[in-house]
Formats: sequence, C-alpha cells, structure tokens
Amino acid sequence: MSEVPARENFALLPHGTESLMYIVLIPFAAVFLYGLYLKLSEYGIEALRAIARDPVTWIRNVMRYAVAQRRIVRELGPGLMHLGLSYGILALFIGTVLVAIDFDLFERFGGKLLEGAAYLAFEATLDLFGLFLLYGLLVGLARHYAGVKRLRNRLEYYSYLYGLLFIGVTGYLLEGIRLHVTQVPWSSYSFIGNSVSVALASMGLERGWLSQVYGWVWWSHAVVAFGLVAALPFTNLLHSVVAVFYSGLSHTAPRFPTVANTPFKLQELDESAEIKVGFRKVTELSWYQKMGLDACTDCGRCEAVCPAFAAGTPLSPRMVVQKLREELWASRRRGPRDVFEDGVLTYEELFACTTCGACVEACPVTISPLEYIIEARRALTFEGRLEKRAVEVLTSLGRTGNMYGLPPSSREDAVAELRALGAKTVDENPEAEYVYWLGCLASFDPRARNIAKKMVEIMTGCGLNFAILGPVESCTGVEARRIGEEGRFQELAYANVEVLKPLNGKKVVTHCPHCFQALKNEYREFGLELEVIHHSVLLGRLVREGRLKAREALSVTLHDSCYLARHNGIVDEPREALAGLDLREMNRRGRWTFCCGGGGGNYWYEVKRVKRESVQRIEEALSTGAEVVVSECPFCLAMLEDAVRVMGLEGRLKVRDISELF
Ligand code: SF4
Ligand code: SF4
Repeated sequence: MSEVPARENFALLPHGTESLMYIVLIPFAAVFLYGLYLKLSEYGIEALRAIARDPVTWIRNVMRYAVAQRRIVRELGPGLMHLGLSYGILALFIGTVLVAIDFDLFERFGGKLLEGAAYLAFEATLDLFGLFLLYGLLVGLARHYAGVKRLRNRLEYYSYLYGLLFIGVTGYLLEGIRLHVTQVPWSSYSFIGNSVSVALASMGLERGWLSQVYGWVWWSHAVVAFGLVAALPFTNLLHSVVAVFYSGLSHTAPRFPTVANTPFKLQELDESAEIKVGFRKVTELSWYQKMGLDACTDCGRCEAVCPAFAAGTPLSPRMVVQKLREELWASRRRGPRDVFEDGVLTYEELFACTTCGACVEACPVTISPLEYIIEARRALTFEGRLEKRAVEVLTSLGRTGNMYGLPPSSREDAVAELRALGAKTVDENPEAEYVYWLGCLASFDPRARNIAKKMVEIMTGCGLNFAILGPVESCTGVEARRIGEEGRFQELAYANVEVLKPLNGKKVVTHCPHCFQALKNEYREFGLELEVIHHSVLLGRLVREGRLKAREALSVTLHDSCYLARHNGIVDEPREALAGLDLREMNRRGRWTFCCGGGGGNYWYEVKRVKRESVQRIEEALSTGAEVVVSECPFCLAMLEDAVRVMGLEGRLKVRDISELF
C-alpha cells in the first residue's frame, strides 16, 4: 500500500470493469445526448447566443438566482431542502468527473490527480456534500409523504428522489466497504464512509464476502446513476440544468413593470403585413418561452399565491406551464396541436387570471406564467373567440372610448362636478404643475368619482397648481391589453399620447393604478415620457411635509393594489400617508399582496368562482381588527365594498379610498 494517500480507482473490482463500464454507459449516454440534441434544437442555440450578447448580466443573474438561490430560500424550509439537493448533486457530479479525469487522463499518463492533501480534502468534501444531498432528499420525500398541498405526487418525482437516495446511500456503503477491506490509515477523512466501515466491522462481516458484495453494489450504483443521467433531458430533472441558464437570461424577457411584450406597433405596420399575435400551438412560442417550460420545477409556489386558484377557478399558473411543457414534448412525437381546440388550455382558466403578477413574483426560477396566459388570450381575442360580455366591453371601448359604452360627452358631468369644486382644465390653466388624470371609473361611476372630488379638495387645500384634462381624456386601453386586444389598446395609446405629449414637463397624477401603469410604463414605447405620480404617493408626500392630516384617528388596514405594490414597487409611500393612524397590517401585504379579483379585465365580466378573492381579502382584513380597509385603487374599492355588502358587514367594516381619510 502506498504511503501517500491516494484514490485507488476501481478498487475491489475485477480487472476489465472499467472497459465494461464504458460499454454499459454507451446506450445511456446515447439517450442523454439525443435528449440534449432535442433541447438544443428547441432553444439551446438561441440561449447561447443571448448569453454571448451580454455575458456579464447573465453571470450576475445566475449568481443571484441559481448560485445563491435567492428566490428559492425565501421559504426557509423548502429553500434549505433545495440547497441540500442541488449542491449535493453538484458536488457528487464534480467528484465523479474528477475521478474520471484522474483515471482516464492522469493515470494513463503515469500521474495522479487525487492524491495527498488534495485527495483527503476531496474525500472529506464529498462525504459532507453527500450528507447535504441526503438531507435534501429525506426532507423532499417527507414533504411528499406528508401531503404538502402544492406538491404533485407523480411517480416520476418519486422515481428520481428514490434514485438519488439509492445513489447517496450506496455511495456511502461502497466507501465503507472499501475502507473496511483496505484498512487505509487515512480512512477518518472519509468520516461517513469510515463510520459505515466501523459499523460493518462491528457486525463481524467477513471481508471476502464484503468484497464480493462490493461488485454488486457498485454496478447497481453505476446503473442507477447512468439511468438518471439518461432520463435527465426527458423528465422534470431537466430543470436542474435549464433553470440555471434560463434564470440567467431573465433580463431578456418582460418582467415588472411590463406585463408582456409588444407584438407589433400599429403605426409601423404596412397594410400588407400579416399580424400574428399570441400562440395557438406550443411550437409558436418563442425560444425563451419554450425554455421557461423546461425550467419549471413544478414547485407550485405560483399556484399557492394565485388568487384565481384560491378563488376556486380552473386556473392554476403552475398547470398552465406544466401543460404547455408536456405539450411541447408531445408535439415532437405527434406534431403540434391547437392548444385551445384540443383542450390543453381552456377559455375559463385563461380568463380567470387577474394579471396580478403574484405568480411572477413567487417563481423561484423567474418564469412568468402570466406571459403565457396573456399570449394565449391574445390568440383567442385575435380570432374573436371571446365570450359575449368580453366582446361587448371591447366593442364599447372601440365605439365610445370607455368600457362602459357611455357617450364620451358623459365625461362632461364629472368635469362639471369637479369644476364646481374649483378644478380647471389644462386649457384654462396652462401653467398647472400637475395634471390630474381621472380615469374611466371616476369619470362614469359616482362612487369612484368621490375619489376625484376628494383629490380636488386636497390639492386645492394644499395649494397645488393643478388642472384636469376635461372631456379630451379617454380610456388608457390597458384593460383591453390585459384581455388580449392589443390593437384596441394601441389605438387608444397613440391617441392619448397625442393628447398628453404637449404636456411635457408637467406631472401627471392619477388615483387608478391601472392608468398609472399604462401612462408611466406602457406608453413609453409609444413615445410618452412623463412623470406620473400615483395619488397615494402624492398624499404620502403631503403628509410627510405636514401639509395634510387624517381627519379621524382610525384603526386601518391597507389593501395594497397589485399594480402599485407588486408591478411598480410602491409600498412605503401609501403607508407614509397613513402616518398617525393605527395601521394594522394584513399578512399578505406589500409586494405579497392578495388581489381583490378585479384586475386583468375581470372587473368587466363574470368569472365563476367558488369563493371570491374579495371575500377572502375582507376576511383577512377583518382578522386585523381594523375599522377601515384602505384601498388605493377604484377597482379594488368597488370589489371590496361589494364583498363587505355580500358578507353583511356594512356596520362593522368600512372600505375607503386612501384620499377619503383626509
Ligand atoms: S397573474 Fe395572478 S391571477 Fe394570473 S395566474 Fe398569476 S397569480 Fe394567478
Ligand atoms: S412556474 Fe415557477 S413557481 Fe410555478 S411551478 Fe414552475 S417553477 Fe414553480
């Protein structure tokens, strides 16, 4: 025996095992390479090109999402489990590669890679990471057996969890037998293997017999490992590789505050151009969208936060992604199908989405299930496959410039009421510093108009120089965009940009987070760059400056609007406005707020639910003991007030827009 600690490759195995191993490996490697080829031809080349275009950002994102697993460890328990699994597998993979290099390269040329201190460190490290792997696997299996609600119990998942467990356990067993038989003096560095060796010795097992058993265990260990490698491109295990590359490319796709990409520009289209929006077949998805399907871990975090799922609609963002993933694979075998006609995606699930973005925020690998939903809606809308009510609101919007279908002259009523409170139009007050954008709800709905009246009172009272647009204001079209009607949205966007462009240099104030989103973020592409301020931010500023104070000392709870808190990160400013009040926070708040159910066009048509999102939200608000639920959005206000009415809580809980507290 050598005095220098060194790895003895293929120890205790008959001569020729190494050659036989490579022969056995061939079919497994062929299957793996075929799968790899399929994936590379689907999106791999484009992904590599995108990485090459901006490697620095890609590396930064990989460090953030894949190495530090920042989004995964937001949930500590599952996060630690995943860290154990991923780093355990990675270490064992690197260890196996090092052994192969040691044997196939160094030893063949008379050298040795794994010897001396390096070898001892290698052994200790691998033993340690093997423990991490076992921890991850045991917790993973325990979560499945404990019936954690969002986990899907699929045979495939059990197969590779048990497969990896088998590899981990047999790895330690092989090491233990080897140490027991060879009795090397450095065995303590393999601290787990050494413990196994001591245990085998205490059982009085004969070394000769153990040497024979070693061969069987070694082959079963190798075959299961080869099998898992071969299965990798064809199973959900693939996410372990694809998610790393994909999350690094997250900067290349629409994320907050953008909801989806812009498929065309109406004014740049020439008449003969063939417009294609959304997808009907999974093969029509972009390479990045296809890659996202394979990056999905099926963890269910998106589903757990989805208000539409919680409300009992047929929508699960996880299943949208998973169904498309399966469809992508199946399309290789039997050609692509129409995902709507063949029932892969249904109208009901797609139009239950409130576009709240909770799934995008929750996804640990930066997938946007919302993007697939919007793209699918676009295809349905483009082909006119909408339900009656959705068609009606879009038609009204086209005809009258508002979703209510009321004549544009009806805006005059709102303008007259605000004029009576001292507001002037931009024509009357061209020097105004602020332009107050009312939005359709305040223009046509008396309840929401109260917000506009309060804002006019507050801005006048605080001495702000402001003006309203008057009857030239029109719908931003953003709800049409959420429904999937891109053309209608762009018609309105271009028209509004023309109205707003001359106001360059002024600040636009709006109390509707959806108008805020359109004016601030989505109109940029159409040439509008204005400073847009949400009224809650303005109120926060006025309170901070001591120019505004709440009317009564109330206990309140704040319902963050999805489009404000999550899509635009506005969380602290509304809370500054509530300074001095007894603020009782709900569990789901800030970026993790829970949608009222009115977003994504859902306010305008009926979505069948088991328990409405707004009712669930009011229950949550009630549990804080607050007297008032504060809203920052006229849609949320309407949805939550309706829930309070339905629940018979009018005497117990009030719903107020934030402006109505002052
Ligand atoms: S955007 Fe919101 S409602 Fe739509 S799927 Fe995601 S979590 Fe569900
Ligand atoms: S889309 Fe993201 S959050 Fe949803 S199941 Fe897949 S990996 Fe998990």
